[in-house]
Amino acid sequence: MRQGLTYDDVLLEPQYSDIVSRKEVNLKTDLGKGVKLRLPIIASPMDTVSESNMAWGMGMAGATAIVHRYNTVAEQAAMFSSVPEHLVAGGAVGVGRDMAERATALVHAGAKIICVDVAHGHHILVKKALKDLRKLFDHLGEDIHIMAGNVATLEGFNDLADWGADSIRCNIGGGSICTTRIQTGHGVPGLETIFQCAKSDRDAKIIADGGIKTSGDIVKALAAGADAVMLGSLLAGTDLAPGKSFKDTNGEFRKIYRGMASAEAQKDWRGRVSSMEGVSSSIPFRGALPDVLQELERGIRSGLSYSGARSIKELQGKAKWIRQTHASIVESSAHITRRK
Ligand code: IMP
Repeated sequence: MRQGLTYDDVLLEPQYSDIVSRKEVNLKTDLGKGVKLRLPIIASPMDTVSESNMAWGMGMAGATAIVHRYNTVAEQAAMFSSVPEHLVAGGAVGVGRDMAERATALVHAGAKIICVDVAHGHHILVKKALKDLRKLFDHLGEDIHIMAGNVATLEGFNDLADWGADSIRCNIGGGSICTTRIQTGHGVPGLETIFQCAKSDRDAKIIADGGIKTSGDIVKALAAGADAVMLGSLLAGTDLAPGKSFKDTNGEFRKIYRGMASAEAQKDWRGRVSSMEGVSSSIPFRGALPDVLQELERGIRSGLSYSGARSIKELQGKAKWIRQTHASIVESSAHITRRK
């Protein structure tokens, strides 16, 4: 049986570096069809992560967000009104009846990315959706970037690329609020999915989505072959994520973060619960989005310099991996807290 590794299973070996300042490191990524990011981070299409404020904040930082689809077409399109044209922001669509209407409204509102947002992307309905969207954009005379997903295998990645996706969200079941693997027994360890999809000879870009907990995990995802990462939990605690912070019983400020397939989210957006594959939780309030992004960016820049790499491409060429043991995983954390 094949074995798959994920983020905590591996480390990157430090290598000789002639980078004297983290400023020399370039984190730019070109996802195609005019979607160029200064910082390779995309905020997740979730109702506790990406609405207009997040789209604005991510765009201002040279990153981007995919505005979620759990609302009316008019509500979603209105979320682009505060995002200046020159910034890159995207919108999610499902594969249901309103897909064409939603995608058209989003493009007219200024979306530069349309994301076909379903849990199991390697699916006949996604094949049809991608074909229909390409036709729609040809008809509108717009060459819009289409993101799709999620997939967990190279076969899935290649099929979505062949069906017309410009970038593909990779990882099934790895999200911090996700119970897909428990409910269904299906999934592939997150980093293994990136290693597999990086073998593709197609042009589509790899978005490492779900299970990313630290800037170190972002560096590992990029080194394994990702062109950008998609984040939920790392951004949901910031001031520009939807929802108000509240004080818990210890007097600490927190925010709600929930899976879109959690019972709570499903009740809110479709009025009933069908298959539950996520949880709702609360996470510590992390403060201002720009500060959180800056901290992540510093960690990523430092990460590239440890591998002696000035760009993401260089990192992917140079990366040397080493497998961690359980003792090494313990050693890798601030283990003073474990001592009596
Ligand atoms: P995180 O960054 O680890 O918190 O994961 C965020 C990712 O989890 C999203 O980008 C989605 O791919 C995925 N996701 C969002 N909601 C759910 C859910 O309810 N169940 C399973 N996966 C989810």
